Amino acid sequence: MKAVWKTQPEEGLEIRETQVPKIKEDQVLVKVKATSICGTDMHIYKWDEWAQKRIGKNIPYIFGHEMSGEIVEVGKNTNGLVMGDHVSAETHISCGYCFQCRTGNEHICENVKILGVDTNGTFAEYVALPYRNAWKNDKKIPHWVATAQEPLGNAVHTVFDGEIAGKTVTIFGMGPIGVCAVGLCKAAGAAKIIAIDRHELRLKFAKDFGADVIVDTSKEKDVKKTIMSETDGRGADVFLEMAGTSEAFNMGIQTLRAGGRASILGVFPKPFEVDMTQIVFKGIKLSGINGRKMFDTWYTAKSLLSSGKIDLKKLVTHKFKLTDIEKGFETLIKREGMKVVIEP
Ligand SMILES: [Zn+2]
Ligand SMILES: [Zn+2]
Repeated sequence: MKAVWKTQPEEGLEIRETQVPKIKEDQVLVKVKATSICGTDMHIYKWDEWAQKRIGKNIPYIFGHEMSGEIVEVGKNTNGLVMGDHVSAETHISCGYCFQCRTGNEHICENVKILGVDTNGTFAEYVALPYRNAWKNDKKIPHWVATAQEPLGNAVHTVFDGEIAGKTVTIFGMGPIGVCAVGLCKAAGAAKIIAIDRHELRLKFAKDFGADVIVDTSKEKDVKKTIMSETDGRGADVFLEMAGTSEAFNMGIQTLRAGGRASILGVFPKPFEVDMTQIVFKGIKLSGINGRKMFDTWYTAKSLLSSGKIDLKKLVTHKFKLTDIEKGFETLIKREGMKVVIEP
């Protein structure tokens, strides 16, 4: 089969022929019908500091983790799955025996392995998947749409970390997860959604998914003033951080009302200074969000998708063949796309 490898400790990738993976008893073999490029893959492609530290020891290996495909072989112990099932992958491969796994928090397993980061991933014609990580999709949802469920899951986990109906919400960072979050807040009946980013194209998507107010930080002179005046001078009820920058975090806290909720999903490149006194005196509820709850988040995402409450189709801007995957990366580096789907 053809697969996309990271072989060198430098920017780029390599497409190589390799063996179709042999499955273990608790795995299924999935023929990948669609796989999509995520921020994590961009780090790996560019081989930045994070990738060097996190993946340095794993190369050569096949990367990619967002996927939808069809089961073509099942191991002996793979309850609940049959040949022909359409599945996506929960990317957190948990151990099942640590404290977190045993107390209902598998998404923050102490021994977690991540598909396409610690194991061979989905930028390939076939992938071997632990059966517990295979999420059965509604066959009515096309593969090229179902592959975007992983970022949708991140958004579901963050948005529904607290109450959302009737609330004013600031969302910083309009990548695919941020845009999904806008759509979810709309579907859940948020009173006002304020989307913040510095790229015009991304803000267009935010508008299209239902943002009430768009704040372009590349043009807006006083972002704080704008958000405060949009929230009756009180600040937002809810702040969702999906940008992963210190500026976004600090602005989100400054424009959050006393007693507000801050749910932080962004991954920050390095430690930074925070005015903790403000968080304390404003009585802000602050929580970190990692991955998707296994599998509450997936059930919620599935019902929102199947009922048409959120339309992921609109998120997919480009499709490429596996052999043209580098064009997909270039598109995203130039910020010309939102979700890029690869069809092997
Ligand atoms: Zn991803
Ligand atoms: Zn565990």
